[in-house]
Amino acid sequence: MLDKVLIINTGGTIGMVHTEEGNPLSPLRPAENWHEIAKEHPILNNFSTDYYQFTPLIDSSDMHPDTWRRIAEVISENYDLYRGFVVLHGTDTMAYTSSALSFMLKNLDKPVVLTGSQVPLQKPRSDALQNLVTAIQIAGNELYGARVVPEVCIFFRDTLLRGNRVRKMDATNYFGFSTPNYPTLGEAGGDLRIRRKRIQPVSDEKFYIDTNIEDRVVIIEIFPGLKPEYIKNIFEANPDIRGVVLKTYGNGNAPTNDEFIEVMEYINSKGIVVVNITQCTTGTVKMGLYEASARLLDAGVVSGLDLTPEAAITKLMYLLGKSRDVEEVKKLMQIDICGEQTLNHYDFEHKHEREDEECMFTFDIPEAIAGDDLVEAVIRIKGVSPMDKEVAGVNISIELEGDIPVENLKNFRSRKEVRKTRDSLGEDILLSFNHCTKKLVDNCKAIKVRLKADTRIDWGSITFSIYSEN
Ligand code: ASP
Repeated sequence: MLDKVLIINTGGTIGMVHTEEGNPLSPLRPAENWHEIAKEHPILNNFSTDYYQFTPLIDSSDMHPDTWRRIAEVISENYDLYRGFVVLHGTDTMAYTSSALSFMLKNLDKPVVLTGSQVPLQKPRSDALQNLVTAIQIAGNELYGARVVPEVCIFFRDTLLRGNRVRKMDATNYFGFSTPNYPTLGEAGGDLRIRRKRIQPVSDEKFYIDTNIEDRVVIIEIFPGLKPEYIKNIFEANPDIRGVVLKTYGNGNAPTNDEFIEVMEYINSKGIVVVNITQCTTGTVKMGLYEASARLLDAGVVSGLDLTPEAAITKLMYLLGKSRDVEEVKKLMQIDICGEQTLNHYDFEHKHEREDEECMFTFDIPEAIAGDDLVEAVIRIKGVSPMDKEVAGVNISIELEGDIPVENLKNFRSRKEVRKTRDSLGEDILLSFNHCTKKLVDNCKAIKVRLKADTRIDWGSITFSIYSEN
């Protein structure tokens, strides 16, 4: 039976000591070894731990994907020898590292708990001891039997947080971290309570690491007055960039002016993946909800839903490291890998090549979707235009049915109608098919979409989007 926890020290405030022993005013430097860290806290020697130290120890501002890889390798090399792992890390970029590790460590069945502190362990009133002791206890499953938290997580102050949902929220406060879009995995007061239902399931597959990371990516945050040409200049000067996380307003809105949209189209035309996340701390991107994000959709931007910036950039780096297929990366960005986002977003696109009165397409239902998990199913038809330029408007009917007839089930077929007048033809048609799609998802393998118009039209582009919970 494995009884030890491996503490991996990468650096940061937690393990700093004073340059002059006994002089609390002397500058801080990284401790040389575990003995130096723990010497004023003999309680730390009561735990069954081994210690591994990175050389050099770094301020986490100097963190780099190579160091993420190295942390993953150290965990992998020692995986079979320990009950769990504690990673000591500077607080500044801990959320990036925990996000990156969550994608790199595959099929985890042991805890990997990152922690740090706002004040060094050696200082009076430090938060480090509580953080470190509790992290060791969680990593060692000491209080709860084996395999309680098979996730990369952060323990800080009194909460256990999912590593790819966490953000550093405060530069000095001891409640330094939180997961704005996900509840805590556990709380540590007088009792340590782990919320089992919120924790990822243990995989039956063998643990391995996947450390191919593409670092030719950028984050761009928009603000009123940002000049589109500045953005374009970045991409003209750096044609090797492969991915962008675009931080937009609210539900994913950005300027609608042509110059900005043209720059987005330019970036898309270069085969660069652009992921839209919100600048808001809480909430999610809903592409297409307002015109201000519908134009981004048309320019090839994909939704980052409720990903944190840290999870968005590391997920993008991870997926770009795995695949050179831009469309595949775009699809996978919108599907949950390991609890980093609340919803999965699947798009099924169709382009009807001829002008016609009718248009039909079929798409396979991904196995991962279940009716109960379905949150929304929406069809979006964009750019409809009648051949006869004189008609006053167009009536369109949209019908959904499964690939097999479903006996004894009502509502497995649904039909909706919409009228577009000449003036409103430029606007997208958006219709929900929630109820029917729920039924079809549970009973069929594929969905047929049949569209009919009362005159010959160019159907533009049609997208059926499904949002489902993990
Ligand atoms: N600058 C330090 C770091 O991130 C801050 C800390 O550890 O709290 O390494």
